[in-house]
Amino acid sequence: MRITAADVLVSSPGRNFVTLRITTEDGMVGLGDATLNGRELAVAAYLSEHVVPLLLGRDAHLIEDTWQYLYRGAYWRRGPVTMASIAAVDTALWDIKAKVAGLPLYQLLGGRSRRGCLTYGHASGAELPELFDSIRYHQEQGYRAIRIQTGVPGLSSVYGVASSANATAGAGGVTTRYDHEPARRSAVPVEEQWDTRAYLRHIPGIFEAVRNEFGPELPLLHDAHHRLTPIQAAKLGKSLEPYDLFWLEDVTPAENQAVLRRVREHTTTPLAIGEVFNTIWDYRELFEEQLIDYVRSPVTHAGGITGLRRIFDYAAVYQIKSGVHGPTDVSPVGLAAAVHLGVAIPNFGIQEYMKHSASTDDVFQPSYRFEDGLLIPGEDPGLGVSYDQVLADSFPYQAAYLPVNRLLDGSMHDW
Ligand SMILES: [Mg+2]
Repeated sequence: MRITAADVLVSSPGRNFVTLRITTEDGMVGLGDATLNGRELAVAAYLSEHVVPLLLGRDAHLIEDTWQYLYRGAYWRRGPVTMASIAAVDTALWDIKAKVAGLPLYQLLGGRSRRGCLTYGHASGAELPELFDSIRYHQEQGYRAIRIQTGVPGLSSVYGVASSANATAGAGGVTTRYDHEPARRSAVPVEEQWDTRAYLRHIPGIFEAVRNEFGPELPLLHDAHHRLTPIQAAKLGKSLEPYDLFWLEDVTPAENQAVLRRVREHTTTPLAIGEVFNTIWDYRELFEEQLIDYVRSPVTHAGGITGLRRIFDYAAVYQIKSGVHGPTDVSPVGLAAAVHLGVAIPNFGIQEYMKHSASTDDVFQPSYRFEDGLLIPGEDPGLGVSYDQVLADSFPYQAAYLPVNRLLDGSMHDW
């Protein structure tokens, strides 16, 4: 079953997406997500210039061989651009194989281990009353686990905290201020402020207030966006222990995996890391020393279903679970792939889910559904996602960057 076409499709229905569409000689079509937020066109060029010419004429059934061919064959291994490109090819080939089999993809990954993927949503508010409203809104939407981000006194804006000033289209065409995406995107990055000491003083009181208001059962998550030193991370984890977090995410910039030892020695708050990791090698120390509890890599950025399933199997040896990154810049193709993988693997933990905008869903028409706090894969053969190119072409690419983060003295900081 030869590959006869591979089209790199760039569009911006609600936000920018890079989609790879592979077509075979007998007319089977598979989709892969190659969206790398803020660097979309680098992946599109990598695919068009260096991958598509190698795909034409190859047997679409050779998923593992194609993965190895693109990974080892590049010589320059790893990295987000390379691995997002490989992910798109891999996902599209899995989509095709499942369509040929006439089965939803999860059936090829071992079948269901659970009804659906438990999700968490994002609640945020500059102040407590707004945060409480946002938590209640997400509970009404069906979410059973909730990530909490808040403003910090003295800082004018904080990444991950929604404000009505940065509205985007809401889910299902209905926009409320709690559907607004917290990240402020613009043609030149917005500059935000950061003060770690103010943040560390403020956050424990927020979680205490939320526990007092919502009780002990609601699973709560929090993201520190790579901003802390190891000792600050240890202090935060320790100070949040009374509030029984489901996880604390990205406490340090994890290029230096060894620093997680220091954090781990000081706190029993569960740790999640890896949304910017893209290969199994990035996790080796973290897994083998059991320094984390949840793996954050998504299908889109970690070499596709083949790459991520290998990471999850490795994680399972150390009782580490999945916690797949699910921002709206992972397209419905990438999310569908995560949901099929999530219902199949034995060590599923939780799936991040921010609803896509109505225009995004109109273009991709995903068959997964959100029900009772779960994402449930559709029963259509393959991934269960399509791509309306005519509609997509009415949303051309727009440069859009995430904010950058500066300390109060003006110097750049991690996020
Ligand atoms: Mg995160």
